[in-house]
Amino acid sequence: MKLGPALAGEHAGGPSLLAISQQAEGCQRCELYKNATQLVFGEGPRDARLFFIGEQPGDREDIEGHPFVGPAGILFAQCLEEAGIDRSECYVTNAVKHFKYEQRGKRRIHSKPNAGEIQSCAWWLGAELEKVRPDVVVALGATATRTLLGSSAKVTRDRGRAIHTGRDFDILVTIHPSYLLRIRERGDASQERQRFIADLRMAASLRSEARA
Ligand code: SF4
Repeated sequence: MKLGPALAGEHAGGPSLLAISQQAEGCQRCELYKNATQLVFGEGPRDARLFFIGEQPGDREDIEGHPFVGPAGILFAQCLEEAGIDRSECYVTNAVKHFKYEQRGKRRIHSKPNAGEIQSCAWWLGAELEKVRPDVVVALGATATRTLLGSSAKVTRDRGRAIHTGRDFDILVTIHPSYLLRIRERGDASQERQRFIADLRMAASLRSEARA
């Protein structure tokens, strides 16, 4: 399968993940730093075996400076728990490290990062992947899938199976947990949630296979 910018392109270098995150604080590789409160870098153990990639920080993450702390992050943590995965053992990050939004009155409405922004920010994601060296990388949603596997990869088509790219880790594509929050019909929401948890269980089992 084709590789996206986080795997195919060059990336930042440095002696440690901390040093790279400090370099990223001053990043101006695209315009998104201008309106965001702060950069939100990935978090988790340096030797995490499971590595999750979302899209970008949301409103809450932008304010607090940590990934996956908003409503979708809380739901994600619940689903991880139901899948038997200890979140504290996972590295969680985003394809794009600054919040992109449109101001509507007092509200800041999430705006999807474009291909150029994804490409620019892959500079940091590639470095995170190299430093953590996980067994399994889970792409949560279309933006994360694109940065790993390019624009031809599709969540609906490529979801729920191990994808091998010749790297040391398997890639698993699934939905972003924010999708679950947007489903109005209760039955559908419950069904999709179970499907997402099944994908997370598969990620855990791929990790176990890699360790065996
Ligand atoms: S979104 Fe990424 S590439 Fe753009 S300024 Fe922020 S850290 Fe740099």
